[in-house]
Amino acid sequence: MIAKDLHSGVEALGNLIAEASIIVPFTGAGISTESGIPDFRSPGGLWTRNRPIPFDEFVASSDVRDEAWRRRFAMEPTFAAAKPGRGHRALASLYRAGKVPAIVTQNIDNLHQMSGFKSDHVVELHGNTTYARCIGCGRAYELPWVKQRFDESGAPDCTDCGDPIKAATISFGQAMPEDAMRRATELAQHCDLFLAIGSSLVVWPAAGFPMMAKNCGAKLVIINNEPTEQDDIADLVIRHDIGETLGPFVSN
Ligand code: NAD
Repeated sequence: MIAKDLHSGVEALGNLIAEASIIVPFTGAGISTESGIPDFRSPGGLWTRNRPIPFDEFVASSDVRDEAWRRRFAMEPTFAAAKPGRGHRALASLYRAGKVPAIVTQNIDNLHQMSGFKSDHVVELHGNTTYARCIGCGRAYELPWVKQRFDESGAPDCTDCGDPIKAATISFGQAMPEDAMRRATELAQHCDLFLAIGSSLVVWPAAGFPMMAKNCGAKLVIINNEPTEQDDIADLVIRHDIGETLGPFVSN
């Protein structure tokens, strides 16, 4: 059912939240546009400005690694300035109220942690851009360390094993993190309300989780300002701004 307007959508969502015992939010880039981080596919989004760099190209070429880090550092003022928006804060309110055991996110911006979720309770399907990792041994690196090496001599390699260091995100063509996929599967299968928020639901396998939750018996709500391919199977579709929709659920 598509909510006929914002008001009735918020009311229907409130009823579903009140009835539910275990709520699992699943978020995409749309929840963070209010925080000043562009999404991928909206006009002016990151996709339209920079073609994403596939993992195999990053591994194969030091020029490509330089370009990847140049882009990442160009985004640093945006990521560093971002604060949780109404959507993040509403979900953190539900978490504090005890109905949300953990959140599944495609986002890499760390804003759910900043809004009050414990890191252990944020299941990051596409990693996190606020630190870096060696793609060989997995050693973690702080971004200021990477930036200093990058400014001196280009994209750095791991001081332990010599493999390239990459932002700790999952690129196209890179294996999905097994533990996050397993935890997201369990959460989708064992909730009674699944909230898909701000995702175009076109990036797979992440986009499979709303359908999985629905198939396992959960009610499915989709909040997104444009249609998605899974609107047909949702119990409630709210096609409005996320901050406006979730603002009434912020409790602090
Ligand atoms: P997407 O860009 O494909 O889709 C975002 C959706 O949110 C769009 O359909 C857009 O219309 C909608 N939207 C944007 N602002 C909105 C608002 N204020 N209210 C309601 N709807 C709004 O994003 P995706 O599905 O998450 O997939 C893109 C991939 O890009 C993700 O895997 C993620 O890793 C990465 N990404 C992350 C960030 C971030 O961490 N903030 C930003 C850009 C891209």
